[in-house]
Amino acid sequence: MLDAGDFSMGIAFGAASRETGGELQLMSRMGYDATTFGNHEFDLGPDGLGQAIGVASAAGRAPAVVASNTSFPGSDASLADLQSLAQDGVIRRYLVIERGGLRFGLFGVLGKEATFYTSGGAVAFADAIETAKEMVKVLRETEQVDVVIALSHGGLEKGQDGRYTDGDDLRLARAVPGIDVVIGGHSHTELHEACIVNRRTPVVQAGKEGQNLGELVIALDGDQLTVESYRLYPIDGRMVGDRATAEAIEQLKPLVTAAVFAARGYRIDQPLAIAPRDLPNTFTDIAAGTLLANLCTDAFRSATQADIGFTANRDDARRSDTGEVGRANGLRCVRRCAAGRWCRGYHGRQRARDRLVHRPGAQASAGVPARRQPRPSRRVFPPCIRPAISL
Ligand SMILES: [Zn+2]
Repeated sequence: MLDAGDFSMGIAFGAASRETGGELQLMSRMGYDATTFGNHEFDLGPDGLGQAIGVASAAGRAPAVVASNTSFPGSDASLADLQSLAQDGVIRRYLVIERGGLRFGLFGVLGKEATFYTSGGAVAFADAIETAKEMVKVLRETEQVDVVIALSHGGLEKGQDGRYTDGDDLRLARAVPGIDVVIGGHSHTELHEACIVNRRTPVVQAGKEGQNLGELVIALDGDQLTVESYRLYPIDGRMVGDRATAEAIEQLKPLVTAAVFAARGYRIDQPLAIAPRDLPNTFTDIAAGTLLANLCTDAFRSATQADIGFTANRDDARRSDTGEVGRANGLRCVRRCAAGRWCRGYHGRQRARDRLVHRPGAQASAGVPARRQPRPSRRVFPPCIRPAISL
C-alpha cells in the first residue's frame, strides 16, 4: 500500500507532527509500505519534518520514505535531523520490496509545480524527470526488479477537452518509459479511470485526505503490461473502523492538545462555533461557500480575540456521505480549522493574548475579562447560523 505525499497537515494532528510523528505512526499501523514527500511535509520547515519522522522512527512506526529527488546538502542546522535519517536509511532514494515472488522497485519524486509551493529552506530538489531516469536504470539494471513504481507528487491537469491530459504525473510517465506504474498526488484528483501513457503505463490518483483506497491490478507478460482492473474504494462513515487504529488516534489526542492547544486554554475536540443547519461548501462555487468561511473566520476572531481572522474559502468543511455539509461535519470542520489556521494567524497577537485566562466550556461573557470581551461583529448573522462561542 502506497502514498504519494502530503501525508501531513490540514488538521490538528499535523500541527503537532513535530511532537508526535502522528500521521506516520498511524500510516505504519495501517500497513503502508512507503510514502514520499509532498510540498506540505515542509510546512513546518525541514527541521520540523526531521523531528516528525524522527519521533515516528524512534517509536518503530514509520513507513519507508522514498525521496529520490530530495537531498539535504550543506551544514545548515535545520537539515541535521533529515541528514541523519537519510544516513540511517529511514529516508532513502529508492526501495525494493518482494511480494509473491516479484520484486517491486519504488522511487518517489516531488514534481516541478509542487516544488514551487515547498518551504524547503536549505533542502535541494533535483529535476524529477532526470532523477526518474536515473532511478529506473538503477532499479532495472542493478536491482533487477520486475516492476518499477513511481510515487509522483506532481499532479494531473485537464486539457481543453476536459480530460486529464497534462500535469507532472503524466509528463513523468511520458518522459520515462521504463516506469511501469505512476501513483500520483498533489492535485487531489479522484481519478476513476487510469490514464494510460505510451499505450502501457497506468497513471492513477485516489483523491485526497484518505477519502479513497485505490486498487490497481496489472498483468505483466514480458514487456507487455495490461491493466486488469482499477478501482477506488470510498473510505467513509459507513465503514467500521479498525479498533486498534481508532484507539491509537484517541491516544494521540491528549498529546496534540498538549502540543497545540493547552497553552491557550483549548483542547482538540472543542468546537468554536456551531452551525445548526447545512452550509454548502464546494470547490467550484466559492460564493456559496463564503457563508461557512465567514462563520469560521469570525469564530477564530472571537476565540482568539484577534482583530483579523483568516481562513481559506472552500477549505472550511468536508462533504458528508450524502453530498451535503451536515451539522456534524460543520462542527468537525470548525474544529479542524481552529487547529491549524488559528494557531498560525495567532502569533502576531500572542503576547497580549497569552495573558488571558480562557475557560474552556464557559460562555464568553463569563470566561473573559471585561476589557477583553469580543468586539461586536459588524457582520450580522441570520439567527440560524449565529456562532456559539465557547471560551
Ligand atoms: Zn501537494
